[in-house]
Amino acid sequence: AKSIGRDQVCGYSRAMTEEASQRFELERGLRKALENHEFELHYQPLIQVRSRRAYGVEALLRWRHPQHGLIAPDKFIPLAEQNGLIVQIGSWVLHEACRQARQWQEQGLGLEMIAVNLSPRQFIQQDVVALVRTVLEESGLPASMLELEITESALMANAQQGEQTLRQLKDLGVTLAIDDFGTGYSSLAYLRRFPLDKLKIDKSFLAGVPQNTEDNQLVTTILDMAANMRLHVVAEGVETEAQWRFLQGRGCGACQGFLFSRALPPAGLPDWLAQQ
Ligand code: C2E
Ligand code: CA
Ligand code: CA
Ligand code: CA
Repeated sequence: AKSIGRDQVCGYSRAMTEEASQRFELERGLRKALENHEFELHYQPLIQVRSRRAYGVEALLRWRHPQHGLIAPDKFIPLAEQNGLIVQIGSWVLHEACRQARQWQEQGLGLEMIAVNLSPRQFIQQDVVALVRTVLEESGLPASMLELEITESALMANAQQGEQTLRQLKDLGVTLAIDDFGTGYSSLAYLRRFPLDKLKIDKSFLAGVPQNTEDNQLVTTILDMAANMRLHVVAEGVETEAQWRFLQGRGCGACQGFLFSRALPPAGLPDWLAQQ
């Protein structure tokens, strides 16, 4: 029994060491990724439900790792959020997204707006208002074309400061959206105190539409409340025609999802837009 115990301890610590070293590798790679220009933004079309036409895009971060290939944000953003690297990465994202959007605007691509995700830490810690102001100035992108997506948890971390930051961002002329709506604990009524323009219904709610009655009711309720509060809505994760029809029937303004397109590398977007 003694030796089994020792083996277990041994195996356990070996596993820990491996996990720790993987994490260390990831972190070291992440630090280098910015200077080595390994990050890319891909762009997912945002669709007007009624017409099924793209009016804008959401910028989504990808890491082109020299050994591991393209890495999805869920694999490295949580770590970057923990160790604070997200602030620098997020600043790069904002610069790059606005530069690209401005270029597309000059090329007459016909996109009305670009949406950029702000991480909770970025929203809370950094002087995000100064950053956004600078990026708009440098890129020449009209503020009205920039939409910032913020999660409920970032707002709730410090509601008072969050409210103030949102007001300052709003004063710059950008559009403000609450991301992953429904996954946090705050009610829509509570969110009313914030100067928001839009909410994005989390894709987990769309997953059950239209076969799950409860999900249908939930999405319908959110749409009704948003309409009462004069908030625009984007439904995320639309993968089927039936989901699209459901949203259309309930007057949902906008959506995004694999039914229309995945996030595309920037070189692919003009062709996709031309073919739609
Ligand atoms: P998010 O902001 O909710 O972005 C939407 C995610 O849903 C994207 O995943 C997108 O590819 C995926 N998606 C879109 N349509 C569908 C669909 O029909 N079905 C399914 N199953 N998924 C769909 P992605 O690109 O892997 O991003 C994951 C998350 O990583 C994002 O969720 C966001 O929270 C975070 N993220 C991505 N880019 C950035 C960034 O630049 N900064 C920050 N702070 N976070 C980012
Ligand atoms: Ca988002
Ligand atoms: Ca979302
Ligand atoms: Ca999400």
